[in-house]
Amino acid sequence: MLLDKIMKKRKSSLQYQYLQTGPKNGWAMKSDLYAKCPQCGYYMSLDPTQSDECPCGNLFKDCNFGRFGARTGDETIEIYRKKKAL
Ligand SMILES: [Zn+2]
Repeated sequence: MLLDKIMKKRKSSLQYQYLQTGPKNGWAMKSDLYAKCPQCGYYMSLDPTQSDECPCGNLFKDCNFGRFGARTGDETIEIYRKKKAL
């Protein structure tokens, strides 16, 4: 089980390139950018046309109201860019 978790973590760090933590000058809502939930580790696409919520309910995105954030605070959200598939 533990090994499985480590392997998954390794795989995700290969797929996503870390950019920043928290909003620098507001959030850049682009489909190739992903926000990582600090609680459950879910990667959420910042595609502005799709609403989403992470499995633990901390991270949320509502495209109808243009809202995005985390209950743990904006400064806890890590932003990643998804690498192109090789
Ligand atoms: Zn979560």
